[in-house]
Amino acid sequence: MPKKFYQLSRLERLAALQTEKTLTTGDAAFFRAGKSLTQQRAGQLIENQLTTFSLPEGMARQLLVNGKYYQVPMVTEEPSVIAAASNGAKLAVAGGGFTTNQPQRLLIGQIIIIDIADMKKLQLQLEKSKTALLKIANAAHPSLQQRGGGAKWLRLRPLSQQELSLDLAVDVQQAMGANMINTMLEAVAAELRPHLQATILMSILSNHGPDNLVTAKVALPLAALSTAKINGTLVASKIAAASRIAQLDPYRAVTHNKGIMNGITAAALAFGNDFRAIESAAHAFAVRNGQYRGLSQWQVQAKTLQGELTLPLPVGFVGGATKALPAVKPNQRLAHIDSAEELMQVLCALGLAQNLAALKALVTTGIQQGHMALQVKSLAISAGASTDEVLPLSNALKHAKTLDLTTAKQLLHALRQQR
Ligand code: NDP
Repeated sequence: MPKKFYQLSRLERLAALQTEKTLTTGDAAFFRAGKSLTQQRAGQLIENQLTTFSLPEGMARQLLVNGKYYQVPMVTEEPSVIAAASNGAKLAVAGGGFTTNQPQRLLIGQIIIIDIADMKKLQLQLEKSKTALLKIANAAHPSLQQRGGGAKWLRLRPLSQQELSLDLAVDVQQAMGANMINTMLEAVAAELRPHLQATILMSILSNHGPDNLVTAKVALPLAALSTAKINGTLVASKIAAASRIAQLDPYRAVTHNKGIMNGITAAALAFGNDFRAIESAAHAFAVRNGQYRGLSQWQVQAKTLQGELTLPLPVGFVGGATKALPAVKPNQRLAHIDSAEELMQVLCALGLAQNLAALKALVTTGIQQGHMALQVKSLAISAGASTDEVLPLSNALKHAKTLDLTTAKQLLHALRQQR
């Protein structure tokens, strides 16, 4: 029997990806060499730089989205995240994979105006100036409009009797867009300032993303969810119950969503994206109706388990750190992703795959069985095992009655006595 992908060594995996033409020869060589950010480049990226910091990169295998198989690079320190994503991806194939819908990609920026003496007068003044202000916004970053994007609309949003947010919506094309929109907002604010009987407090993008949503869906045949001990119909109904609880209970919802973001954030890092912006947008969207709820929902319908995840994903395919971080371009080519829209859709499907695997484990064997089997290597490292000792100690831990640090240290001691 040929080895499974996860059973191969790192170099065998890279060779397999090269053979199947997922990786180019040049990118395979880059991954083999394990090259990372130079100190010089790191010092150009941040302030007070001391060194660089490494994290492991792996890959979720065979994520089927809109009829195309993706190999998704993921950067994470947490064991089991990538295994769970690959497991969820595999389950979804039985249902024909994920389908996605992504209606628009608009980033919203705010000019916050305070100390307004006459709100009605100001609103009238701003309404009349909308066309001129949009022109000023676009003139501040003309290349965006030349690419088919740019400032699209302005909205007045009173926040109190004396305070208002002037919202600017921008089609940021292939970028995440934070810097571009901030440039536009400051140009509009500078034009407005002398003409206002009010104070401009600040101009900055909003990380709230209701105009930047993406949805992924999947419908699984119930039989695909069977385990050795539980039939698929029961597993599906338990997953649907877990989904309902995440709508009712914030304690559960936060953990439910953390599981979704385990996958999305790991991939966002691999693609050099601002994961803080992605995380804050997701959690704000989860509480949009006043109560924090699960971002995904699962239900049994028409003899299938149907799952759906909608969230804002402010990703960038160009700009930001995408050029500065050396692994980003090879990762984009590894995934065969060519645009910000495609990245949004794949990340959303990945989040739903991650969620499916976590819920299935939780309602069947429990999270610890699979999780701890994969955590033993981390436990061995925490116990002080050297690189050569990690494997034998992990094997010994797999047979231990308790999986804790004390046991790991005792077993390591015993292992060293035998040598
Ligand atoms: P950049 O400042 O890098 O701007 C995008 C760049 O991409 C521009 O130089 C643009 O070129 C170039 N580009 C090339 N092709 C395209 C294309 N097809 N579509 C769009 N742009 C293209 O980054 P962003 O404006 O995207 O901002 C993202 C960065 O801002 C991230 O690093 C983020 O961390 C940070 N940030 C985040 C904040 C937040 O989230 N609150 C606040 C402030 C910054 P050209 O100049 O020719 O248009």
